[in-house]
Amino acid sequence: MPNRFAHACSEETLLQSLTSSPSGLSSAAAEERLRADGPNRLNPPRHVSPLRVLADQLRSMVMILLIAAAAISFAVGDHVEAWAIGAVLVINATIGFTTEWRARRAIAALLDLDVLQAVALRDGQLVQVPAEQLVVGDVIEVNGGQQVPADGRVLTASNAQVDEAALTGESLPVAKQPGTLPESTALADRVNMMHKGTTMMAGTARVVVTATGMTTEVGNIDRLVESVRPERTPLERRLDALGHRLAWLALSAAGLVSLLAYRQQMPLPLIFETGLALAVAAVPEALPAVATIALAVGVHRMSRRRVLIRRLPVVESLGSTTVVCTDKTRTLTSGEMTVVRIWDGRDHEVAAMTLAPPARRAIEAAVLASRPHANGGGNPVDHAMMECARRFSISPDGLAQSRPLVAELTFSSERKYQASFRQTRDGLSAYLKGAPRTILELCAFGPAGEPIDVRQMDQVNDRLAADGLRVLALASGPVAAVDAKSLRGLTLLGFVGLMDPPAPGVKETIARLRAAGLRTVMITGDQRLTARAVGHELGLLDADSGILDGRDLLALPEAELASLAATIGAYTRVTPADKLAIVAALQARGEIVAMLGDGVNDAPALRRANVGVSMGIRGTDIAKQSAGIILQDDRFESIAGAVEEGRVVFDNIRKFVFYLFSCNTAEILVLVIAGVAAWPLPVLPLQLLWINIITDTFPALALSMEPGDAGVMRRPPRDPREAILSPRFLLGIAGYAALITASTLGVFLWVHGSEPARASTAAFMTLSFAQSLHLVNARSTYRITGAAHGSNPYAIGGVALAIGLQLMAAFVPPLAHALHVVPLRGEDWMIVAAASMVPAMVGQLVKRGGPMEGGPP
Ligand code: ADP
Ligand code: MG
Repeated sequence: MPNRFAHACSEETLLQSLTSSPSGLSSAAAEERLRADGPNRLNPPRHVSPLRVLADQLRSMVMILLIAAAAISFAVGDHVEAWAIGAVLVINATIGFTTEWRARRAIAALLDLDVLQAVALRDGQLVQVPAEQLVVGDVIEVNGGQQVPADGRVLTASNAQVDEAALTGESLPVAKQPGTLPESTALADRVNMMHKGTTMMAGTARVVVTATGMTTEVGNIDRLVESVRPERTPLERRLDALGHRLAWLALSAAGLVSLLAYRQQMPLPLIFETGLALAVAAVPEALPAVATIALAVGVHRMSRRRVLIRRLPVVESLGSTTVVCTDKTRTLTSGEMTVVRIWDGRDHEVAAMTLAPPARRAIEAAVLASRPHANGGGNPVDHAMMECARRFSISPDGLAQSRPLVAELTFSSERKYQASFRQTRDGLSAYLKGAPRTILELCAFGPAGEPIDVRQMDQVNDRLAADGLRVLALASGPVAAVDAKSLRGLTLLGFVGLMDPPAPGVKETIARLRAAGLRTVMITGDQRLTARAVGHELGLLDADSGILDGRDLLALPEAELASLAATIGAYTRVTPADKLAIVAALQARGEIVAMLGDGVNDAPALRRANVGVSMGIRGTDIAKQSAGIILQDDRFESIAGAVEEGRVVFDNIRKFVFYLFSCNTAEILVLVIAGVAAWPLPVLPLQLLWINIITDTFPALALSMEPGDAGVMRRPPRDPREAILSPRFLLGIAGYAALITASTLGVFLWVHGSEPARASTAAFMTLSFAQSLHLVNARSTYRITGAAHGSNPYAIGGVALAIGLQLMAAFVPPLAHALHVVPLRGEDWMIVAAASMVPAMVGQLVKRGGPMEGGPP
């Protein structure tokens, strides 16, 4: 049956035509259909084609310069040189391509991991299946917070609200309900249908799948294709800008050197080639690719820590995050709740208590106001209530049968209570459990039937909360009608105190974050005293930290909230809507905010935060899609690991910039100084290109693999406004460039006296070796030896490879010939070796003083 009639026929006809039933498909039938129809997937995410990446490489300025150089050599009849430059060109393009391609692949692969799950009836059982495996005829259950996984007809619905903006542009949620509609009903008005790619905001619905994959409405318009295009991060953009500036500098230097060479009456082709080679060598063409690689390496390392990155810029923000906002229950605490205290007019410890009628009434109300859940899932508070009842041999099922359910108001963080309306012998009654203050407002009588003494109740509540217990009030009473408005004049039956122990590792993580200059702020629906007790236990609050109540927060003007936010350690009794205001207030103070959330209502705050964090298991689809990172195992600890990796990524990019810029500057200086002094060329054009290949790639790439300094989590966050090229940093670059230049020219002059032909070879060797060894200066803020230094086999390998290749240039005859390398004498080699080590040795001496803040030098 064509999809377009699915809304217009009767349910029976539809199910028949889909060969399905209200109890869904058998797994065998589903498997068969999956094979026949293919997976429920929109166009496979568009990977960039390899050709595009290659074309990008060829279009770069360096490539154009190289092509020009090859053409000139060819034109003047220097064919060996032309072929050699051609080889350089190919090698350059290959390396550039591989780097770029690997970075893109790594990122695309990680985004693919983020698969949606669906709940389907298979063999009559509700089971979780990957949304991609849904088939036509499947009966699925969709719940609030979930993305609708396929097109389907609504069979049953309860308060089902769907946001269809992605499909129809309608911004208000649409209420869905079963029924048959006229054939002519427009897509936006088909309230009996749900569509793939839209989002269920609230409620629950059973839906029979009528279309999957590309045959869905979204598939038809193909407007909603998940984007996997890696965004350019602000850092990458800044690096690009920096690269451009350096490129201009290199070009000017090339012009200057050509001019000086002309004054020396060098042959014209040599002048051109020198200028071009210098430009090629000095333009930091690898910069953006290596930055992407460093980011991708970070993303990969985080995925090993079960942290999934959904948006690349987040990696960068993580490194400068200053505040982590988190909810309490199930993030800071384990969420395995047990009722430990009951107050029914008197205090009882559950562990040492015999059940008397008042407590029984309270527990019964608690059970009747909870939703049973078969397999341990569901709401942990409700679960604790059921467990408590079982402990006293109260059967939740028996209770529910004797007082049949008429309707319920389910718990939400806005409502802060749960109520059920039930038929009893005395007529319609309501049973409630919820946040004490909220429940108290609905009550007129105390546990013994006396008029309620609110002050006394508050004291009881405070007593329980001060011990760090989550307190819920229990109430019941006759009601006139089934709605929230008739919940008045109820009887407060008592309070229960639930213990929710801190999750393992949280206290340590908060301490770790604090050492790294990050403040952890608790945002909870619980009340002040509970939050305070838990906050102190976890080391999240100290004597100076304030606690702000949700009610006071509403009354505060924005500016005042922003100034208060500096010292507030916990926000209590907040609704999810308040979270956005809190994030905004912190940002107004210049903080970089990471925000944990997992509900439908957290989505705006997650999007607003610099780093939105959602939980992988507990998070709703909307929360995950709004978040920049997902903690796959729902552990708060992972956030610290993510921050650490974020910082390492930034450090590594800085190290790379440091290394690359000092090497390139040295190359420029060598030629400019030689030109000014009217010496012959210390390094020939092709030699420069050669150095560029071996030092810009292997050693430089190794820097993006650096493991990170041991002290990375013991220093304050990076100031996001701080320039990459701080004056200190520039000074370091200039200093080392000068050292490399001095070594190279020193060797050149030394050998030049005895035999000019060997001088340029010796200078060539020195420049290359010195650059390779200079890597140790860029590597760490620590000395090469010493406990704090993590090992990086890539760095050692990279340096070894670069030195090995350089030695080949000296000792493999065809290569030596192409590069105009002449044999050196023993004593030349000694001088070359000694001079090459100078920059690295000086670097070690400079670092002897111990670690330096802020990365290299
Ligand atoms: P948190 O931010 O700590 O997760 P919630 O928003 O989940 O807080 O809960 C806020 C308050 O609502 C709790 O302090 C509790 O009093 C009440 N509450 C929580 N869960 C339930 C539930 N299942 N039924 C009734 N009331 C609840
Ligand atoms: Mg909660």
